[in-house]
Amino acid sequence: MSFFTLVALAGLSQAQSNYLGLPADRFPTADGDVTIAFLGHGSLLFAFQNIHLYLDPWTEVGDLQRLPKADILLITHDHYDHCDPAALKLLRKPETVVLAGPSAAAKIPGAVLLNAGITHTVSPVVVEAVPAYNTLHKRPDGRPFHPKGEGAGFIVTLGGLRFYMAGDTEPIPEMDRLAPIAAAFLPMNLPYTMTPEMAAEAARRFKPRVLYPYHYGDTDPSTLVKLLQNNLEIEVRIRPLR
Ligand code: ZN
Ligand code: ZN
Repeated sequence: MSFFTLVALAGLSQAQSNYLGLPADRFPTADGDVTIAFLGHGSLLFAFQNIHLYLDPWTEVGDLQRLPKADILLITHDHYDHCDPAALKLLRKPETVVLAGPSAAAKIPGAVLLNAGITHTVSPVVVEAVPAYNTLHKRPDGRPFHPKGEGAGFIVTLGGLRFYMAGDTEPIPEMDRLAPIAAAFLPMNLPYTMTPEMAAEAARRFKPRVLYPYHYGDTDPSTLVKLLQNNLEIEVRIRPLR
């Protein structure tokens, strides 16, 4: 078996575990496991200690009603597949802290606005907003699909590990300052976000230990495994996040 085949098989392996019937991976920390459940598309559920944190929950990815209410909700931007009022209604309880990038915060009553560079702590969870925007891919009228300053990505620190969810973005210079990252989620749906080549370029800027393509739509995620086959420090994992 060739080296490449081994890498490709590793990338295509099933999720290590499951959580509430969802495919999930676990990351051990000194303070307990971080479980990441893959809801689909750009939607994730993090479970850590007794905390449930959701990123961009969308009702189209499955039955959210059966899942635990959110302690923390992170909303990157106001596009319908990221900022879904029906999902917020299902997952929100009176104590839920909603942290949102600028365009989403403007549409969610009670949300805390997190501009890029701002850190917000909901102990023991630390959330930092980081920039997310297009430099290349634009609408026919010349406006980027994701203009700078409207959306956000997030770095969530749990048990000392930093998890990076990029939101809808392309490779941007600000990514050079993100390391160290335990696991990163990079979007690959076209034409709105990154080609696999762009995702590989982005990953090389901060070298996550584990890289998940997410929000990949019709893009073949295995292409990313091939592009990063010589970057042995980065493990690409493909999960059901179309
Ligand atoms: Zn978007
Ligand atoms: Zn999107």
